[in-house]
Amino acid sequence: MIKTLKFFVKEAGLRIKYMTSRDCIFCKLINDGGWASEPILETDSIVAVSDINPVADVHILIIPKNHIESVLTIGEKDSRDIIEMFSVAQKIVEEKKLEAFRLAFNAGRFQHVPHLHMHLLAGGKVQWSKL
Ligand code: AMP
Ligand code: ZN
Repeated sequence: MIKTLKFFVKEAGLRIKYMTSRDCIFCKLINDGGWASEPILETDSIVAVSDINPVADVHILIIPKNHIESVLTIGEKDSRDIIEMFSVAQKIVEEKKLEAFRLAFNAGRFQHVPHLHMHLLAGGKVQWSKL
């Protein structure tokens, strides 16, 4: 079954545009709001939020607004989103003056939310086994 559909936002008569998946928790939060805390940074195509179950002092999720399932499904069409994810990571690192940090992607059985997201981890000990 094709799960994705074009999501239209009516804003001043304009339609936009995220590829979304009906059963996806991150798509729902991206489209309807309701994150546990205010996003840390948001651009047209990316949202960065604090992880609700942090495994490090700083644990931020950097999420494309378009539904991309995982690192295994990234394609040419996603190139702008992927670059923007790293650009957002750079901004957060700069703003928070993080001297050392790690970026991680889970996949396969390690990935619990099937919507691509980058974990930005910093400070103290990272509890890798819980990631
Ligand atoms: P992964 O195992 O890589 O798919 O990671 C999913 C991450 O999303 C976990 O670290 C969860 O704690 C986090 N998470 C799940 N739901 C939310 C939410 N509503 N807001 C923030 N983080 C979430
Ligand atoms: Zn999604």
